[in-house]
Amino acid sequence: STPFGIDLGTSKSVISAARNGGIDVIVNEVSNRATPSLVGFGPKNRLIGESAKNKQISNVKNTVDNIKRIVGLDFDDADLEIEKKYFTVPLVKDAATGGVSAKVRLGDTAHKETKANLEQVALSVPLWYNEKQRHAAADACRIAGLTPVQIVNEVTAAAVGYGVFKANELPVDEPKKIAFIDIGHSSYQISIASVKKGELKILGSAYDKHFGGRDFDYAIAEHFAKEFKDKKKLDVHENPKAFYRVLVASEKVKKVLSANSQAPFSVESLMEDVDFSSSLTREELEAYVQPLLNRVNVPIEAALKDAGLTIEDIDSVEVIGGCTRVPSLKQKLTDIFGKPLSFTLNQDEAIARGNAYICAVHSPTVRVRPFKFSDYNQDAVTFSWDKQLEDDENEIDFPRDHKVPKEFTIKFQAKQDFEASLRYTGSPIDSKPIAKWQVKGVVPKEGESEIEVKLYVGANASGWYTLDAAETREDTLVKVLVEHEDEEDAEPEYKEEKKNNIYELRGKLEDQYKDFASEQEKETLTALLLKTEDWLYDEGEDAKKAKYIAKYEELASKGTRKEEANRQKQEAANTAALQERLA
Ligand code: ATP
Ligand code: MG
Repeated sequence: STPFGIDLGTSKSVISAARNGGIDVIVNEVSNRATPSLVGFGPKNRLIGESAKNKQISNVKNTVDNIKRIVGLDFDDADLEIEKKYFTVPLVKDAATGGVSAKVRLGDTAHKETKANLEQVALSVPLWYNEKQRHAAADACRIAGLTPVQIVNEVTAAAVGYGVFKANELPVDEPKKIAFIDIGHSSYQISIASVKKGELKILGSAYDKHFGGRDFDYAIAEHFAKEFKDKKKLDVHENPKAFYRVLVASEKVKKVLSANSQAPFSVESLMEDVDFSSSLTREELEAYVQPLLNRVNVPIEAALKDAGLTIEDIDSVEVIGGCTRVPSLKQKLTDIFGKPLSFTLNQDEAIARGNAYICAVHSPTVRVRPFKFSDYNQDAVTFSWDKQLEDDENEIDFPRDHKVPKEFTIKFQAKQDFEASLRYTGSPIDSKPIAKWQVKGVVPKEGESEIEVKLYVGANASGWYTLDAAETREDTLVKVLVEHEDEEDAEPEYKEEKKNNIYELRGKLEDQYKDFASEQEKETLTALLLKTEDWLYDEGEDAKKAKYIAKYEELASKGTRKEEANRQKQEAANTAALQERLA
């Protein structure tokens, strides 16, 4: 199947495919290289993308814009209050999940255009998407009939694309420090990476979740709303359709001002058959968005701090995202970095292209230029388990991490079966966990009250945590025959050897994502766990160590932890002997 990359933007989405030895952006049904991220609900049918956009003004009360902002959000999330302003439909609580629900169909365009067997996809999400939102994004892919091979941070996708496609211009040993900045329709993200030929590391990241093109549009719209009220004594805020039309005209003004010093503004019969026309200059726009421009430095400083760097360390500033076409914003960024900005990447397509490459890396059939990279997990989490012994610690913090995927092992003494859970660090102990696991089969050795338990926790490349395996270990002493080659008649001699028995524990994932492992997967895994357990009891005692290890590997390879390791091995194999086919 063809590997796909999707950039689900707040205003528009881009889909690309790794095919014919390169990466193509796929055009939609009206030959556009990007599709509006919109869903409109009509009396009989549902409109998606272009057709929803065409009907947006007449169907403003039934068109859902800004979907990306509310995917996976809890209804009581403080951000929802801010988001309401940008929505022309009421946001309601989903009775079943307590969240705000939105279903997105991404597959159709790619499917129709490529006629490919659309299976695997890498989808990007903003840095600020939390664990639950990342799962929701993966879920959206599945609803669309796609297999999400990786959920990638948007800026990372663009940076990886840069590293892969600019390979020949990159240094071989001393890496360059590059700031990648994406300012789109709703948010502003920055990641600082060290990049050399064949390798990229994210050193630090930061974002302003509420800074993007739509905020510029609103600033302009509010200005014209006020002017209209002053001149015509009519308030567009009282009429959602009228306000929306002002907003659309304001976005147009903003774009015209990127290339001109003055722009006309005009809306016919805006309210009560009153026409409204006016104009705006670039200087005026700059004045209205000054509060935003004053915040531009904040994420940059935070990302530098996160990376342990100063502004002088930055070799170049790569900029993407539609909003960075605004001259005053470009100027502000240039002033802060003290150097000209680079627009090496395609501002609108870099993320989708990077994703198609990342998806191709996962494909066993498509050959790609090898490139090593890790992603960034911005959430610090705390992993805890039922307290087993009075004085023992029962939790461990995982700080935000620049280098995922990663594995951790946790060791402690346990008395019995227990529950383990994951929550954001600092959130109250009784708050709803991100994930919860029941670990079963903890049996101390006869005559003992506790046994050492080992948990394998994975922080995967998609940005969430997994409990991949749990085991107990038990040392037993066994008598081993000492062989003396020459002395055939000698008395048999034995020595004692310590043997390490490993018992894989049974686990049950109890969080809201338990459906992610298909029923069949779960059954296979459980059956294998039980089989191995039986095997350990029946013949395990006498089995040779090699057999133990083989059995353990077989067991572990079915778990996701090893799956990840296998995937990486496979990737290495895929890329090792390969020619550079993706240009
Ligand atoms: P996000 O990344 O925030 O989820 P997105 O990916 O949809 O959103 P982009 O496509 O990068 O966002 O950028 C869209 C924004 O860029 C819109 O606000 C649009 O008005 C703005 N924009 C596009 N072209 C121009 C231009 N020539 N001048 C100014 N702004 C522009
Ligand atoms: Mg974007």
